[in-house]
Amino acid sequence: MLKHRLKGWFRIAFGRVVWHSGLWRVFDRRMPRRLTILAGHCVGRPSGLPSDLAISEVRLGNILQTLGASFDWCTVGEGVESFEGPSLARSMVALSFDDGYRDNLEVLAPILNQTGAKATVFLEGAPLVDGRVSWSHKYFWLIHVAGVAPETIASELLNNSPEGKGFGLLAQAAGGAPEGREYQLKRVLKYECDATQRDAAVQRIFLGHGGEESVLRDSLYLSRQQALDLRAAGVELGGHTQDHEVLATLSPEEAFKQIAEGRNSMEKILGPELSPCFAYPFGRNWDFDEDCKGAVVAAGYSIAVTTHAGIYEGRGDKLAIARLMLSEELPIYQIMMEASGAYQWLRRFGIDLA
Ligand SMILES: [Zn+2]
Repeated sequence: MLKHRLKGWFRIAFGRVVWHSGLWRVFDRRMPRRLTILAGHCVGRPSGLPSDLAISEVRLGNILQTLGASFDWCTVGEGVESFEGPSLARSMVALSFDDGYRDNLEVLAPILNQTGAKATVFLEGAPLVDGRVSWSHKYFWLIHVAGVAPETIASELLNNSPEGKGFGLLAQAAGGAPEGREYQLKRVLKYECDATQRDAAVQRIFLGHGGEESVLRDSLYLSRQQALDLRAAGVELGGHTQDHEVLATLSPEEAFKQIAEGRNSMEKILGPELSPCFAYPFGRNWDFDEDCKGAVVAAGYSIAVTTHAGIYEGRGDKLAIARLMLSEELPIYQIMMEASGAYQWLRRFGIDLA
């Protein structure tokens, strides 16, 4: 705990000094050329999703302006592949957004147009081709639209499926501190419950509270035409599996099926010319494994990104490239510490402040 707090203080102190003194420019010049990939989900104010999945237009615009003044914009695919060519004059930055939400076309695309920034959007297959949404969006809808309390959802789930694997942990998760209940309950549903039983139970409760899957899909996700429009606006479209399952919890065959089906869904709409880029659902090291990396390649991708913080310097594992998660609270100077190579310099001494 103390170590965690010390790290937090050091991060603030180091970041502020390096940023305000201009020392970051020295790191940028001296450190190897790099690609910094920023990651988010929504831009603006999507209804029915937790606020930590979104970043405001103003905040994003400020970040893009600051980064664009010192770095070159690229898509994730262009950035990773550029290391194979002649050495770069300036380091690069790429934006990326996961899942394929409507605001990526309606709100993000105009901002990209204004600022000259470039982005990659990683699309889920099922919402795109057959109008389904994953259990987590029904869960968010119950809380953020229908106004059902997490503890009520937990007891309804347990009543629905009293013998369900992992369901016994739901009550405990919903009994903690109020501000952490939504997250804790989601964590149990994600990692502890049997996926088939969970999906069925969440669906019953979603319907019981008046939820309509196709309406929810349309309110959240890009339509087929909007996905085409987004690509026409210059955004790279990468893969993100068919149903957004935690790949590491699936058998190797099921994991491959999820990745390949997602790619097939995209091919139906976008044609055979697809991006080589893929993003692991949830993206933490425990959400995918070595088998998944093999499945990503077998499905036709050559680049895969995670949600762990870091940069890419043109070497290392192209199937586990780090990204920096955007949030409304993350200060610009912290983003610049990563983009300028300052944090990477500290990592050489075994210190990871990200
Ligand atoms: Zn996702």
